[in-house]
Amino acid sequence: MFSASWSMLFAAGLLIAVLLFSLSSTKNSTVDYVFVWKQAEEKNIESVEFQGDKIKGHWKHIPDSPDSKTPKLTDDFEMVLPMALDHELLDHFRTNGVIIKATSADGTFSSRDFIWLLIQILPLAFLMWFLWGMMRRNSDPFGSGPLGSFIRSPAKRFKPSDQQTTFDDVAAMEHAKQDLQEVVEFLKTPAKFQRLGAQIPKGVLLMGPPGTGKTLLARATAGEAGVPFYAINGSEFIQMFVGVGASRVRDMFRTAKENAPCILFVDEIDAVGRIRGAGLGGGHDEREQTLNQILSEMDGFQQTEAVIVIAATNRPDVLDPALLRPGRFDRHVTVDRPTKTGRAAILKVHSRRVPLNDDVNLDKVAAGSIGFSGAELKNLVNEAALNAARDNRDNVTSEDFDQARDKILMGPKREEVLGPKEREMTAYHEAGHALLAWLLAEVDSVHKVTVIPRGRALGVTQLMPDEDRYNIGEKRLHSQLAFMLGGRAAEKLVFNEYSAGAEDDLKRATQIARRMVTRWGMSTAIGPVAFRDGEEHPFLGKEMASDSREYSDDTARIIDAEVQRFLIQGDQRAVQILTEHRSKLDALTVALVEKESLDIGEITAIIGPPVRRDDEQPSQDIAP
Ligand code: ADP
Ligand code: MG
Ligand code: ZN
Repeated sequence: MFSASWSMLFAAGLLIAVLLFSLSSTKNSTVDYVFVWKQAEEKNIESVEFQGDKIKGHWKHIPDSPDSKTPKLTDDFEMVLPMALDHELLDHFRTNGVIIKATSADGTFSSRDFIWLLIQILPLAFLMWFLWGMMRRNSDPFGSGPLGSFIRSPAKRFKPSDQQTTFDDVAAMEHAKQDLQEVVEFLKTPAKFQRLGAQIPKGVLLMGPPGTGKTLLARATAGEAGVPFYAINGSEFIQMFVGVGASRVRDMFRTAKENAPCILFVDEIDAVGRIRGAGLGGGHDEREQTLNQILSEMDGFQQTEAVIVIAATNRPDVLDPALLRPGRFDRHVTVDRPTKTGRAAILKVHSRRVPLNDDVNLDKVAAGSIGFSGAELKNLVNEAALNAARDNRDNVTSEDFDQARDKILMGPKREEVLGPKEREMTAYHEAGHALLAWLLAEVDSVHKVTVIPRGRALGVTQLMPDEDRYNIGEKRLHSQLAFMLGGRAAEKLVFNEYSAGAEDDLKRATQIARRMVTRWGMSTAIGPVAFRDGEEHPFLGKEMASDSREYSDDTARIIDAEVQRFLIQGDQRAVQILTEHRSKLDALTVALVEKESLDIGEITAIIGPPVRRDDEQPSQDIAP
């Protein structure tokens, strides 16, 4: 009711005001105090009229502009009186024969005064408007009037013509592409499906970790089908003013319907789609409202409207179940981190325009980048290319990829140089890790050991798994603990003291040991129980109602003891192995101090080939 006509009237009023303002402002030029003072002195002012805090006056002859920035002066002038004015100016006018008049501020009501009034009232009017909109909750305060565009959804539109992305640009992910192929078919020929009364998918939810190509996939789906692509980010719905989020949704859906067939992409839908009623404190009304609006818009789709909503999230667990109900986002496509072949394919896509040296084997690079997402792989190629560019080379070598990987995994190199003692201690620490990884069959093979300070670490032992692994056995975990504690074990063995540099090792080892006990049932004293220990995102409010710890103090004590036992065992094993192989430890350290960095070949040359067990599949890990 407050919509079109009101907005129109308002806009018209605004237009007139602007016109009047520009008209009246061509009449008088505004000048400053000193200029007026001087002109009075030169007897060039005929008359002045005091109006409230302003002076309006008439020149005898139009003076030259005070400076180049001021436009040409007119017959009349205007000046704002400084607040601190005493009677100086008045006296000055009198002594220089200026005719002085005065009107009270509310004397005449000129067009200018009207505008002034308008300007005073406007903010208040706006405020009332919004307050009123707030009371109406779901309403859109601006309606569809001209001002409505202020809050039009910022869904960006990509016409088919400026879409270059197709499934060809999406490497690997065959499974996801297959799932989306149906959507493509439908968008291409909606009639074929509608004729048979087939239920058309309304919503597709892409789920997967950040950077795995969800946005890319959605865009490629639109490109593949040759339909417009509207994208909006979930967080863009959340606006300062209540009611606007919901109105954006309505607006966005309307635009999409007008342009069907098309794809509407809601990125990071978890920003709005979280379970309703969850969360700390208040302030979620807006979000719930927006979510409700999305749901009701999706329910309102006619079968004839070929609009498919694709949403992406990396937190499917926090989504409101109502979003996932049939008829809404009922198709789920999981977008996972790529496998080894997938990574190789993604690397290939992104190095299409990068000149690679003959020694670069993208399959090898893929093997060494386990756990990397598509975005990280893209970054890897880019960092490698940057590396080559920095050295003014015209192709990218395998060494560039190695350095790029190190940088991404461990942070940039640090400038500072370690002192000889510090360096020796760091070298022993890393040699300890490396030797344990070398000798413990269940720990992955060593890729590289360095004592070059990087990121937060002084040195790094990098492991390189041969293949992706999805599950870890108990034995491997115990060996992992020994490996992680091996750095400080070496320090203690050689220098008879621990350094503070092992904090991270301890933290990570403790974390693993705790999970072994509380989640994976690997402790005989605790048995096959999985405890929840409050790690489940209390900030999302989902778990807030229940107590975060589900076990008694007695159990807590046993858990702590078991964790400790696992860690002590690991430490003892590390100490024992390092003591047994002390000469190898020393040899490795000497080489490390000298060369700063050792790879598999170099380590093999010093201490012989690693102990391997072929039936097990190793994993990636880094021990700083
Ligand atoms: P998400 O939306 O899942 O966070 P994006 O779609 O924004 O991830 O992906 C980020 C970048 O990573 C993309 O621009 C793309 O260049 C790259 N990328 C991710 N996955 C792939 C893939 N399968 N093939 C090619 N490039 C990919
Ligand atoms: Mg994204
Ligand atoms: Zn360490």
